[in-house]
Formats: sequence, structure tokens, C-alpha cells
Amino acid sequence: MDKRMGILFVLSGPAGVGKGTVRKRLFETDGVNLKYSVSATTRQMRPGEKEGVDYFYKTKEQFEQMIERGELLEYAKYVDNYYGTPKQYVLDQLAQGNDVFLEIEVQGAMQVKRNFPDGVFIFLTPPSLTELKNRIVNRGTETNDVIRERLNEARKEIEMMREYDYVVVNDDVDEAVKKVKSIIISEHCRRERFEKEYKMLLEDDFDA
Ligand code: 5GP
Repeated sequence: MDKRMGILFVLSGPAGVGKGTVRKRLFETDGVNLKYSVSATTRQMRPGEKEGVDYFYKTKEQFEQMIERGELLEYAKYVDNYYGTPKQYVLDQLAQGNDVFLEIEVQGAMQVKRNFPDGVFIFLTPPSLTELKNRIVNRGTETNDVIRERLNEARKEIEMMREYDYVVVNDDVDEAVKKVKSIIISEHCRRERFEKEYKMLLEDDFDA
């Protein structure tokens, strides 16, 4: 009998909305059995970040080589840096029946949606754009130009909401994590995911 494939969960939404925080808190929670796909990026390492944990840090040349070799499931150029998801890890984990979790920006998420229509797409949204601006400014790691660019991106990204299966408002991190966890649990109970197994059961010839 076919081994059941893992489910691909994609958490996306505007930069600064708190995707990273929600993702980290989610992975610290009990009862969460997900494989996090570490992305490759050309951006500088921030204080406290670690190679292979937060990102695989690449030069532009190395990243472009990964693109050429078809090693990325998706990638996007975002504020002058490349970000991408290494493909093999995701495919291997799904094939082994493990759920995989991606935390990526929206252009990349749409590429994943084209390749993995069965994935579950969760849009994390800020309570308001003002709130989002405060969060980006208060992080204090970016220059004004970068902040402006990120806010413009954010407006466009919020319009992408309609492409997603679920929307989680990030008002309170614990609440948002609870909602993402509930989505994961619910997705495992979907009828479609059982159809194959049940079909085989129903096709069994008990009279033989
Ligand atoms: P940051 O530089 O703040 O870590 O990330 C900037 C943006 O890139 C965030 O929205 C983050 O979710 C996104 N990002 C991180 N990894 C990937 C990836 O592999 N692919 C894409 N498309 N976006 C990513």
C-alpha cells in the first residue's frame, strides 16, 4: 500500500508581519511534528542568526548556480536579495510521510502553489498597515529606504490574500500559533486525504 505523503504547509504574508516569530513559537510548542525547510538566501546574516538554522547563507553566484541547476522549489528576489527553498529536502520529507513547513514571502508562495496545489496555504496578516509599519520600524535593523520599500511590498502582498486557503490575523502571537496548529490538525482530518485508503478498503473482495 502507498505510504501516505506528508502535507506541505506554507506560511506566508507581508514581511514584518511576524511570520518568523509565529513559526519559531509554533516549533517550540508541544505536539507539533513538522519539518522546517531552511531557506537559502543572499542577504547578510543578522546578529543571533546561525548558518543552517535560520538560513543557508549564499553568495549571489552560489545562489544563481542553485537556480540554474534546478535545485530550488521556488525563489524570489526580495529587496535586492535572493531567497529560495531547497527542493530536495522538501520532496524527501514529504515522501517519507513527514509534514513540511515553509515560511516564505508571497511571490515564492505562489510558485509553490503552482507546483503543489495540494499544499495548504496560510496567510498571516497584520491587524492594520500602521501596526505593520511600527513593527518594521521598531525592529531597527533596516534603513528608511528599505522600510519604505518593504511597506510598498506589504500593500501589494495583502491583496494576495485571496490566493490562500486560510487567513490568520497576527494580533497576539500565542493566538496566531494556536490557529496555525488548529489548521494543521484539521488538514489531517480532511476527507480527501483518506479517500485513497478508503477506496482500497471498499474495493477489497471479502467474499472471495
Ligand atoms: P528576512 O530577510 O526578514 O529574514 O526575510 C525577508 C522575507 O523573505 C520574509 O518575508 C521571509 O518570509 C521571506 N523568505 C524567507 N525564506 C524564503 C524563501 O525560501 N523563499 C521566499 N520566496 N521567501 C523567503
